[in-house]
Amino acid sequence: MTLRIHNTLTRKKEEFKPLDPSNVRMYVCGPTVYDFAHIGNARPAIVFDVLYRLLRHTYGADHVKYVRNITDVDDKINARALRDYPGTPLNEAIRKVTEKTYDQYQKDVSALGCLPPNAQPRATEHIEGMVEMISTLINRGHAYEAAGEVLFDTGSMKDYGALSGRKMEDQLAGARVAVDAHKKNPGDFVLWKQSEASEPGWESPWGRGRPGWHIECSVMSKAHLGEVFDIHGGGLDLIFPHHENEIAQSRCAHGSKVMANYWMHNGFLQVEGEKMSKSLGNFITIADVLQNWGGEIARFNMLKTHYRQPIDWTQASMEDSYKTLRGWQTDTAAVTASAPDAEVIEALSDDLNSHAAFTRLHQLAKQGEFGKLKASLDLLGFTLSNEALRQTFSESIIETGKIDELVTARIEARKAKNFAESDRIRDELVAMGIEIQDAKDPATGELKTEWKVKR
Ligand code: AMP
Ligand code: ZN
Repeated sequence: MTLRIHNTLTRKKEEFKPLDPSNVRMYVCGPTVYDFAHIGNARPAIVFDVLYRLLRHTYGADHVKYVRNITDVDDKINARALRDYPGTPLNEAIRKVTEKTYDQYQKDVSALGCLPPNAQPRATEHIEGMVEMISTLINRGHAYEAAGEVLFDTGSMKDYGALSGRKMEDQLAGARVAVDAHKKNPGDFVLWKQSEASEPGWESPWGRGRPGWHIECSVMSKAHLGEVFDIHGGGLDLIFPHHENEIAQSRCAHGSKVMANYWMHNGFLQVEGEKMSKSLGNFITIADVLQNWGGEIARFNMLKTHYRQPIDWTQASMEDSYKTLRGWQTDTAAVTASAPDAEVIEALSDDLNSHAAFTRLHQLAKQGEFGKLKASLDLLGFTLSNEALRQTFSESIIETGKIDELVTARIEARKAKNFAESDRIRDELVAMGIEIQDAKDPATGELKTEWKVKR
């Protein structure tokens, strides 16, 4: 089966040809460990886990190497350490923050049905390699020291900007008015910066300091996968500047034409139609979701949408996902898995079309091909265990359709101007832990009610 992948680098869907089929290599940018991961961060973890599983299926489990890093050097981490552990020596406080967050992340993604990658390197383990790569970049004329920093000279690379399609001129035009005076080009970015005595730092030829974010991934990917590898992934927001800068560093340090041959980017996730943000109060962590739902429900919900499309994360869609998986759990309970279905594999091989794969799973269920259904679900990372399909809060009420009944009854009461009754029903819903919101359809003027389970 040929695998086709949409490559951000060429903006085309291309046949996947690994450099070495006996050693297929993929790198995905992992979390910066300073806070609970949110449900958007779960998307790359799940999407690239499916790709990892498909690659293992296609090339053999021993022939695929998947690396997802942990960014444990970052100014956000320092700030969090100072806030949460005042009075504790900074190094110790930082370790507390990163360990706690790291452990939580491992728990979260494992509950979401993600296999552990073959390696999860941490930036702090690779400082020496970063100093080495930065020295190489300076020696090759791609980096320079200025005002206590080492900067990458974007003017030294002819096709800088190729991944994101940004030209140097655009960056000039878009640059903030006060371009840092010490930079040769406005787009030049930090490889190393000096640390104050109160900040974490490592000795280097440029004084005690710490690395910039981008250099971390260039060094960790090289250490585990080599100078050139097959697939590099992450969320859409990483294309610029992070991935652009990774490419610049790696190619200029190694004198190579590419860093990775295929660049894949997942689309963004929003919640109930809005951008997720702390100020809007719709910021959902993976841990929040897992409190109420088994991880495979969230996994299924995520994969209903093709990975390059935006996702709207809704309560209603989670309800649907739950019902579907419970149905399939019943269907496959007493069944022995056969081989995964060819059409499911075909769909996944078409740029990871999980949506089409799920359509096929529905069909298999309808046709009673439960052995194939079970094997295909297994390939996609669904065990359908009771724990993985848990729905803690109000399983029984939602199962019986009681909420929908009450919501409809309330609308009827309002139509009949029986406000005492509609208020009574509202109170009943609230008592059940359900939040309701009314909105008039602007076209028809008809009253519509949305509900969700209150946290
Ligand atoms: P960060 O820890 O912010 O670097 O993010 C870790 C990963 O999650 C990166 O691959 C991001 O692109 C991805 N990511 C962050 N926010 C979202 C979102 N709302 N939807 C989808 N992916 C996201
Ligand atoms: Zn990265």
